[in-house]
Amino acid sequence: MTRTTPAPPVDVTEKFPELVEYARTTVRLHPRPGTPAVRDSHIGGPLLWPAGEAWPTCDAPILDVAGDFNQWRPDSPRPCVLHSERVTEYPYSEELPEDIEAAVDEWDEETRGDYQSLLSIAPGCKIGGWESWHLTDMYELPCTVCGTETEPLLKLASSEWDGGSGPRWQPCEERHLVSNEPQYRDAHEPTALNLGRWGDLTIFVCPMSSEHGFRVTIQ
Ligand SMILES: [Zn+2]
Repeated sequence: MTRTTPAPPVDVTEKFPELVEYARTTVRLHPRPGTPAVRDSHIGGPLLWPAGEAWPTCDAPILDVAGDFNQWRPDSPRPCVLHSERVTEYPYSEELPEDIEAAVDEWDEETRGDYQSLLSIAPGCKIGGWESWHLTDMYELPCTVCGTETEPLLKLASSEWDGGSGPRWQPCEERHLVSNEPQYRDAHEPTALNLGRWGDLTIFVCPMSSEHGFRVTIQ
């Protein structure tokens, strides 16, 4: 089934033409509970793995990261089928040059958060795009091998939208659902993951080499 993000209420690049060069295509994964086959795109459920190849194991790094995951039970995402969709994102304002950041923040204050909630960064599980630094403020995540600033690869989220972002990012096909009913929860919290305290976990990778490991942030 298709999941469709509504068009933005305004074209933010008409208000701020400088943002054009910061546009990134993001793939919203739109996981929804189901019974994925091994070759379907999915979260949770069966994993395609070469017969005869050992299951990967990892020592200290995973233990360190697990401490940050708080209530995450890595073996327990509810099996979900993905209904991927490409959307355009613009950066968290702190990622912008100072003069543009100031102008965007001023406009955001006037509009009570339209840029941050409705126009910049998609909530929910996704690949690529920009990170939302709403919990910690932005900080650097350099590659531990070569020092290059890492880039977002995959975000896993505890929910697919919240009260602020829902008016833009809740899919058209699910707007009729009533809060607290099971069908709403299936759309809003499809994976049943609880990352941090109902936060989002993003895995960052080095643009120079896929062999350079990863960094993680929880927002
Ligand atoms: Zn690197």
